[in-house]
Amino acid sequence: MQEFKPRKTLLGVLPDDDVLSQCIHCGMCLATCPTYDLTKLERSSPRGRIQLIKAVARGEMDLSKIFAEEMNFCLDCQACETACPAGVKYGLMVEAARVEVDNSDHISPVAKAIKKFALKVVVGSKRNLKIFSRLLYFYQNWGLKKILHTTGIINIFGKNLAEIDNLAPKVSRKFSDSFLPEHYQPKSETKYKTALLTGCLMNVMFADVNKDTHELLQKIGCKIYTPKDQVCCGSLHAHNGDFETAHKLAKQLIDVFSREEYDYLISNSAGCGAFMKEYAHIFKNDTQYAEHAKNLSSKVKDITEFLSEENPELIYKSVEQTATYHDACHLAHTQKIVNQPREVLNRVPGLKMIPLEESTWCCGSAGTYNIIQHETSMKILNRKMENIRNTGASTVITGNPGCIRQIEYGAERFNVRAEVVHPATLLNRIVKWKET
Ligand code: SF4
Ligand code: SF4
Repeated sequence: MQEFKPRKTLLGVLPDDDVLSQCIHCGMCLATCPTYDLTKLERSSPRGRIQLIKAVARGEMDLSKIFAEEMNFCLDCQACETACPAGVKYGLMVEAARVEVDNSDHISPVAKAIKKFALKVVVGSKRNLKIFSRLLYFYQNWGLKKILHTTGIINIFGKNLAEIDNLAPKVSRKFSDSFLPEHYQPKSETKYKTALLTGCLMNVMFADVNKDTHELLQKIGCKIYTPKDQVCCGSLHAHNGDFETAHKLAKQLIDVFSREEYDYLISNSAGCGAFMKEYAHIFKNDTQYAEHAKNLSSKVKDITEFLSEENPELIYKSVEQTATYHDACHLAHTQKIVNQPREVLNRVPGLKMIPLEESTWCCGSAGTYNIIQHETSMKILNRKMENIRNTGASTVITGNPGCIRQIEYGAERFNVRAEVVHPATLLNRIVKWKET
């Protein structure tokens, strides 16, 4: 029997008996779980997975193929945590279980090597990520992608590869660190001292959202520190069980953002914001980093959280537009940011917000889930797109890059006529520059 050895996670919580026994089997989480909804199998529910983890951790069950499949079938959307009356930290359990699965024989050596390469070598190094993204840009824009798709050659390399290739975010022509100034000082009065996280994938694939966020902060009268040498926050690595790299990157980011004085560290990516808010907890016992980590975490604000709390004076252009809002899981379930984006959007005159049915139900993007569990992800996306279609809104607003691309792809695939934008993009279009 292959033994499950609970190991220390980055968040310092072990899936030991105390944690695993928090679940009171009430089943309140079942109705919120997209994978249980699809299969109606107990083992695909949060409650069922907790039972599986417990059985393997206690040595009562093998770390079997089914166990491995169920841990990877979970979206880690954490909707079950929001629903749980007992405060079960399900996300920590499943992430720890995935570390064990990755170390087991149920993952092929090729899959392990690809994952390690993608996380450590590409995303783990800003320089390598930029080189890889530049190559991808040429592939996407210089005809090679078109040739592979029109000739059908891409299908030789694997089932669903053409679809997954179409789903991949487009690489930005210019990366945001090439045009955003490291220091921006307003010409008139400084209303807020801010810093801006430009991220890893955001920097190379959503540079336009970083530009919109920066311009919006300028319009508000913010001083903005955007360090050129900032690195990935480490969230992708932590959620995939590579705590060592996550730890290293987080420390680098803390160093970079500790060089200057500011009051708010603005994030426009739900997953990154959620993870940076955890730094205080992650490094609480680190004599060198505890204080800096606590300081950084206390300043992290999602852009919509910042706008909602500070309510800066903004002058809007007149608009007449319908829109709906999709809650990114890492905003709604992890950071509990639900009302703030709606408050901010409801302030815009002429913007008619139409409520989205099941707005907190995952869109199926979930990090790399839409690649690894592609068919399931598309079923979940179909449901999201039906709900969006029913609103009749011309614009879908959502605060996470993965959700933006997934819903954009869903609009093409399921023929829903709607533009998908980040709140910062929409607001930057509508908010006027102040007269100087
Ligand atoms: S994280 Fe999401 S998919 Fe996983 S068990 Fe919880 S609700 Fe279900
Ligand atoms: S809601 Fe919480 S306590 Fe109830 S079954 Fe789900 S995880 Fe367990």
